[in-house]
Amino acid sequence: MSVVCPQCSLEENHIQNGNYICDVCGYEWPAEHADSEESQEDVVRDANGIILANGDTVVVIKDLKVKGSSTTLKVGTKIKNIRLRGGDHAVEAGGYMLKAEFLRKV
Ligand SMILES: [Zn+2]
Repeated sequence: MSVVCPQCSLEENHIQNGNYICDVCGYEWPAEHADSEESQEDVVRDANGIILANGDTVVVIKDLKVKGSSTTLKVGTKIKNIRLRGGDHAVEAGGYMLKAEFLRKV
């Protein structure tokens, strides 16, 4: 492993508490590699492949029967302030659990 210090460009450093620490100049910066790999698995993408986040507004792109109820969400229904939950029905929107592939971020 050869990590270059962003400040002094030397490779003398060690990891402590998830940060690289330069042994030469003392500069600290986050060791992000493991984190970014992990968060990629949790990424939820909409119908267009856009990454969704908590609090986004989405539009329903096809009529969706809501599991366990007689409600149908119509195409074009706009839902504010979604919450990502993970799993098969990855998005909580307006109190319903919906698949991200049927939603489009606006
Ligand atoms: Zn340094």
